[in-house]
Amino acid sequence: MPQTSKSSIKSNTNEKPAKKKAETVSVAERVARMGLINDWDFVLHLPLRYEDETRITRICDLKAGDWAQIQGTVISSRTQGGRFMQLIASVSDGTANIEIRFLHFYPKMRERFKSGTLLRLSGQVQQQPVQFGGGLQMLHPKIKDPITDTSELPSTLTPVYPAGEHITQTWLRKRIDRAMLDVDLTDIVPASFTQSLSLPTLRDALKSLHHPSPGADYEAYSERRTPEWRRLKFDELLAQQLTLRYAREVKSELQAPRLLGTHGNLREKLTASLPFSLTGAQKRVLVEIYTDLAQNAPMNRLVQGDVGCGKTIVAALSALQAVDSGYQAALMAPTEILAEQHYLKLKPLLEPLGVKVVLLTGSLRTKEKVLRQDMVASGQSQVVIGTHALIQDAVKFHKLGLAIVDEQHRFGVEQRLKLRNAVQEGTLPHLLMLSATPIPRTLAMSYLADIDVSVIDELPPGRTPIVTTLISMDRTAEVTSAVQRAVSSGSQVYWVCPLIEDSEKSDLTAATLRRDALQQELPGCRVALVHGAMSAEEKQSIMNAFSSGEVDILVATTVIEVGVDVPNASVMIIEHAERFGLSQLHQLRGRVGRGSKKSFCLLLYAPNLSEVGKERLSVIRSSTDGFEIARQDLRLRGPGEFMGAKQSGAPLLRFADLDTDVELLDAARQAAQTWLTTDPKSALQHARRWFAGSGNFLQA
Ligand code: ADP
Ligand code: MG
Repeated sequence: MPQTSKSSIKSNTNEKPAKKKAETVSVAERVARMGLINDWDFVLHLPLRYEDETRITRICDLKAGDWAQIQGTVISSRTQGGRFMQLIASVSDGTANIEIRFLHFYPKMRERFKSGTLLRLSGQVQQQPVQFGGGLQMLHPKIKDPITDTSELPSTLTPVYPAGEHITQTWLRKRIDRAMLDVDLTDIVPASFTQSLSLPTLRDALKSLHHPSPGADYEAYSERRTPEWRRLKFDELLAQQLTLRYAREVKSELQAPRLLGTHGNLREKLTASLPFSLTGAQKRVLVEIYTDLAQNAPMNRLVQGDVGCGKTIVAALSALQAVDSGYQAALMAPTEILAEQHYLKLKPLLEPLGVKVVLLTGSLRTKEKVLRQDMVASGQSQVVIGTHALIQDAVKFHKLGLAIVDEQHRFGVEQRLKLRNAVQEGTLPHLLMLSATPIPRTLAMSYLADIDVSVIDELPPGRTPIVTTLISMDRTAEVTSAVQRAVSSGSQVYWVCPLIEDSEKSDLTAATLRRDALQQELPGCRVALVHGAMSAEEKQSIMNAFSSGEVDILVATTVIEVGVDVPNASVMIIEHAERFGLSQLHQLRGRVGRGSKKSFCLLLYAPNLSEVGKERLSVIRSSTDGFEIARQDLRLRGPGEFMGAKQSGAPLLRFADLDTDVELLDAARQAAQTWLTTDPKSALQHARRWFAGSGNFLQA
């Protein structure tokens, strides 16, 4: 077992939590959000890249642009600047001097940079701007201390892992090294499969991937071309192939009603009544759905389309296909706001056609709820819209033909299964899932159990692009005046406050404080606050006020994340953007740019954001393509964020790339077939281990 670098116990000052509050979420919770829960998850959390801390570069040999590790003595240090104080030090190793600069720092760092202290520093070497002297500098280097002249250097390359904010590399390295010791890494895959591909054992592969020896082909490792990488890709593809094969066998036994749509022509009537015509992509996806619905095998289809592409109307038309076949349809949304919005939008479209729509949410009074449940049970109501309340045991459907789950990534696998498992006379309803959280194509293809994916890859015409800007929270005052200008020009603004920790209460504090501040600073603007702890009626009345233009600035917790549609809102401010997942930011941003006004999204980040953090946010700035954003998020954060991967039991391909690893895929496909016939027990054991933690892995 390669040793961890003992010297790095207190490194990475610039990755420490900015605020005390943020610390109240435990590290374990934060990594769990990245999908890192059990030892096996950690073992499979592989480095993004490596840093070579096995040697020290002489300062006189440094060149701008290099990543390097130096060791030297502090010659002098000083602080500079007014409100935003910098710490600047000059460090010498006898061959030359270099300037070290921290744009923000903790008080105790002055102590660490006292003259005469011996330090080991690593980071990117930069050319200083001329106004700062024009020499070489290191900005926010990593500090190894305390050290002495004889402190040992690590003997292997140092891994840099994908990490969310407030999770230090040091912590991850230790945790992963421990997991490597605790997990049983014995091969389950028969050697006959791996030897013919000249792949190392799993244990050897993982050891080298986490800690390559200094002589390793650095580039091949970074590009995932080494036999070690190929071994992991193979095991992953094999597990995937086994799972898919197995799921297909199970699925072929299930029955669903054929929804042929021959009882009426509601679909045509609705299409004719719309003020717009469907986009080509919407039409194409609808044909795919109608085709599935006409089969007697249950549909299991995910419609994926970027925010604003018009998934709701696709859902409505699919529901009418069920009604036209004499069946009911149910539409389940993750929040009350969204369920009510769907209801308010669909009711006026459907009721003139004679389709009775009811809304079922948790906050209804018991009497009213029972009344509505009866309408569902008797079949009086054909389209049922609701939240989780739809899947409570008290809800019995008369004849459910189609279950639709909006924003499906927000639901756990259990909830989705429960809606679909409302068995009708021995058959299952068809299942249609909608999601704007884009899954990279490779992940979608491996997403379990024969989920078919339709993509709406076209936005309705007339949308204007959104300009995205990253701004440090130091400059909130400027943002506030920009908001004022936007409001004076007739725009409406969303201001989203961050998730500080997993409790609605402290979310609320941040949002309430922001509302108060805005009210005080912008007395001419009408500011309102909406948050998850409000009652459904309160939320709805505030959303209505915003929709109708009675509110200029809507301060919100993430309750507005999904689905909300107010075309006149053209400015989106997201505070502490670094605390959100990229796909989540993309969704939030999608709340604007829905009308014809030029739209803006300002991402405010904590001033001491880490390098990886900045890299992540710049992805959002430079791309409006949800797929590309999701792909980059996967690269920088690991797979945990996608589709609630861990809870959904989706076996995601995180190592193999279906485009480039075709040869391995073929080998895995063949191996899966052989293995399932010769030794199904260990074959499934391999699949289960690989997708460990995702207990439902064969059902999702
Ligand atoms: P999402 O896919 O994010 O759920 P919505 O279904 O909320 O998007 O649609 C966003 C907006 O676009 C809605 O106001 C909807 O009425 C409108 N819309 C949907 N399809 C079209 C279309 N083909 N042409 C014009 N507008 C459309
Ligand atoms: Mg939607």
